[in-house]
Amino acid sequence: MAIIGGGLSGLATAAKLHRLDASIQLVLFERGDRAGGVIHSEQVGPFLIDHGADMFSTKPSAALDFCRELGLEDQLIEPQLTGRGARIVRNGKLVPIPDGFVVMRATQLWPMLTTPLLSLRGKLRFLLERWVKPAKDGEDESIAAFVRRRMGVEVLDRIVAPLSAGIYTADVTKLSMQTTMRAVASMESKYGSLAKATAIRRRKGEDSVERNSTGARYGQFRAFKGGMIDLIQGLAETLPSGSIKLTCPVDSIRPHGEGWIVSEAGTDHSFDHVIVAVPPFSASELLNDVVPKAAAELRMIESASTAIVVLAVSAKDIQRPVKTFGFVVPLSEQRRILAGSFASQKFSGRAPEDHVLIRVFIGGAMQSEFLKKSDDELIQIAREELSDLIGLTGNPVVTRVVHWKQAMPQYHVGHGDRVRIIDEDIDGVPGLSYLSNALHGVGITPVIQQADHVAREVVSRFTPSGDSANSKGIG
Ligand SMILES: Cc1cc2nc3c(=O)[nH]c(=O)nc-3n(C[C@H](O)[C@H](O)[C@H](O)COP(=O)(O)OP(=O)(O)OC[C@H]3O[C@@H](n4cnc5c(N)ncnc54)[C@H](O)[C@@H]3O)c2cc1C
Repeated sequence: MAIIGGGLSGLATAAKLHRLDASIQLVLFERGDRAGGVIHSEQVGPFLIDHGADMFSTKPSAALDFCRELGLEDQLIEPQLTGRGARIVRNGKLVPIPDGFVVMRATQLWPMLTTPLLSLRGKLRFLLERWVKPAKDGEDESIAAFVRRRMGVEVLDRIVAPLSAGIYTADVTKLSMQTTMRAVASMESKYGSLAKATAIRRRKGEDSVERNSTGARYGQFRAFKGGMIDLIQGLAETLPSGSIKLTCPVDSIRPHGEGWIVSEAGTDHSFDHVIVAVPPFSASELLNDVVPKAAAELRMIESASTAIVVLAVSAKDIQRPVKTFGFVVPLSEQRRILAGSFASQKFSGRAPEDHVLIRVFIGGAMQSEFLKKSDDELIQIAREELSDLIGLTGNPVVTRVVHWKQAMPQYHVGHGDRVRIIDEDIDGVPGLSYLSNALHGVGITPVIQQADHVAREVVSRFTPSGDSANSKGIG
């Protein structure tokens, strides 16, 4: 069986398959010279730098369960207890997110009424949410349209948009409510308003974690002591040696008899099943002749780029230190950065006590023009913005600029319909599967859930009687 793509999607599927049926011969082709895709960590002296993801959610528990299954649980750490919570920049100041506000829903009223993030008018408009008529059930709309309609433009511009941009690096006027915030969208259709939904959930005790958004909610996240690379290494180590082929870009796949030919650097390999686990733009090329309808839809999924400027600085060079895990920046603040994350305040072991490790996010769907700048210019931008926001002075002891080109798939309005077409087209072809973070969730947890789903489906389709003797492996 061939797996194309050695990011988390491909590796997790390989590891799941191997656990389900160790007799399946797996070959994983990865274009790059390391496995992990957008997940990577680097130790620079005493600083542990995550290049991409730095933590995962344990809700739902798919990723945590898998770590337990793989024996990686003792490598997991929780976020530090102090400084939990994030901030939003308002008039150049780092203002706490109102307690109980989770991405786009307020689970507590008082913090919303007292926050300096909203004007009196903005607060009054927010209070009207309870009486706003629900939209047509099940119809997709943008996050911007939903929030503007229900809670008003200030809640959108000053709270929800920067928080969503922090997760998806996206344009909220295009981001799909149904595929990124389905739970919130269905609260509107089920209860008529978010305020009513929140009141009912509170009575049932369902929002207890969300209500404590600065404390308990962060307890839902986990990181790896040695950085997120530990997850990748843990997955790779469960596979038989030699099953991961690095610097092996796959050029094409084509059906051949009952199986498939995978062509890599001019060499053909034959397999009875192919799992494509590459980003949508690469997948559309590989799948164009096989499932043209799916390939056309994959081509339409846009992906945003971002750069992360990592600065390791002396704690005494921060004149206005803030006890927080990070901050997001609304577009209306007219700054050149999207967000900042105080990695060493979030997790232990990232920097010595007297230093702070900061990751500054630049670019995304809304500020892609900054990504044309040189690394030195990006570092300069990050330093200037941090100087303004937290009083950063002096010279950083370590700097890194990590570029992620087209790494963040954008779930635009209509994404759900697009995914249905892709899944149906590919499901109709025996011996072919596709997964990536572009379809059913962008985070580590949904990717692992998807890998589990694909692996189980493949094993049941491929070996209906539990017999995998068909496997041909490489050759
Ligand atoms: C900057 C950043 C921060 C993030 N932070 C978090 C976070 O804190 N928490 C969280 O849960 N999630 C986070 N995510 C999301 C999460 O990391 C990703 O969803 C997940 O790692 C994607 O894995 P993937 O395998 O689908 O894609 P990728 O990682 O892109 O892997 C695809 C792989 O396919 C390979 N490939 C492509 N074409 C070919 C070919 N033709 N032949 C062979 N190989 C090929 C590529 O080289 C790559 O290795 C973050 C993502 C980014 C970019």
